[in-house]
Amino acid sequence: MKMLIEKGTLVTAEGTRPGDLLIEAGRIAAVGTHGAFEDLCRETDCERIDAGGCYVMAGGVDVHTHMEMPFGATNSSDTFETGTRAAAYGGTTTIVDFAMQRRGQTLQEGFDAWRARAEGHCSVDYGFHLIISEVTDGVLKEMESLVAQGVTSFKLFMAYPGMFYLNDGEIFSVMQRAAEIGALVMLHAENGLVIDVLAAQAMAGGNTAPRFHGTTRPPELEAEATHRGIALAALAQSPLYFVHLSAAGALQEVTAAKDRGAQVFAETCPHYLFLDATDMDREGFEGAKFVCSPPLREPGNEEDLWEGLARGDLSVVATDHCPFCMAGQKELGSDDFRAIPNGVPGIEHRMDLLYQGVRAGRLSLARWSEIASTAPAKLFGLYPEKGSLSPGSDADIVIYDPAERHVLSAASHHMAVDYSIYEGSEIVGAVRDVILGGKVIVYRGDYKGAPGDGRFKARARWQADS
Ligand SMILES: [Zn+2]
Repeated sequence: MKMLIEKGTLVTAEGTRPGDLLIEAGRIAAVGTHGAFEDLCRETDCERIDAGGCYVMAGGVDVHTHMEMPFGATNSSDTFETGTRAAAYGGTTTIVDFAMQRRGQTLQEGFDAWRARAEGHCSVDYGFHLIISEVTDGVLKEMESLVAQGVTSFKLFMAYPGMFYLNDGEIFSVMQRAAEIGALVMLHAENGLVIDVLAAQAMAGGNTAPRFHGTTRPPELEAEATHRGIALAALAQSPLYFVHLSAAGALQEVTAAKDRGAQVFAETCPHYLFLDATDMDREGFEGAKFVCSPPLREPGNEEDLWEGLARGDLSVVATDHCPFCMAGQKELGSDDFRAIPNGVPGIEHRMDLLYQGVRAGRLSLARWSEIASTAPAKLFGLYPEKGSLSPGSDADIVIYDPAERHVLSAASHHMAVDYSIYEGSEIVGAVRDVILGGKVIVYRGDYKGAPGDGRFKARARWQADS
């Protein structure tokens, strides 16, 4: 059966215009002016969705999520089932999560383990990046096999010595290999060796509270690692993508690299745009709610990030959704900030929060759609199936009501976590309907989908014009 989304305003990376969308067999069949498909829909069976007064956009693409991710002795609290349902509520129709090679494992073992966790449980489409925890000749060779299976990006850490940390030579080797095989390297850029020294010194001085997580990971150590990563990628002739860029100094390094014509890209996250280091100073152990890496930065820093997004030096906003409950999880670090699981929940609120940026005049509607959907789809080999409203693209669509108001709260959100970092925040605008591959999975704010609606997406290789 055909579906017609009519009377809305189409919002794409190119701009906005009134228009109707015709959907058939899970894809966008045609795009026209209001009323263009009236005759066609009168003659045939056609489900109609009235999008009058609403924005009609390509579904959100969140390229940074961690469902069921092990951290120390615990796992992030959203499963693929709960986390992707929350994504659907929030207007995200594709996630790219991080599978993980553990030390001593092949890359394939890491990918297979994560794919098995996700298969049949996801409400939205999903793909995987792969975290490389150990670089050997065998791993470098094996990377190509993962790329052939649609895992076309690899994440490396300059932080977390003893867990994920790789030295510069190892990072450089992966970059060289990625350049050969059409893969994109993603980098967590913080100088983990120095952070560990500062953190040990803080603990020795009796500074155990959550806020010392922030003071021991200063922005200088992100800027330095960002600079180093850019230099290594330039030598390796490899494209490079920085995950969760948080600070003005690191952004300056990316801007300078882009000005030189380097293939360097960066994402930031909603929490760096809307929260700051003062949230970690909250009374008692409350600050633990906001512990993530890199940490929230000093007030005022967010201005630079908004500007970076508007002018294109920041390409993507992804959530780094990595929730841990206060009860039984964040609490693990009540005597030692180093033991607080790193991560904050956010997958459900990305489209809403970015729309507040539109309302504040920081982003255009087109830029909102671009950073939330089109740009991540292009960078990660999902375009034009995802991130586009053109004929032939997957019918993954969000109908967004700019007039609806709601309040963010743990009492009403759908993520499996017992607090909200945005508790009490008033949002103007709301996701009304969400369509995945032509199927309505959220209707008038209510979930209508099922686990298993989402399918694994093999992603295309890196292309230089992304
Ligand atoms: Zn992450």
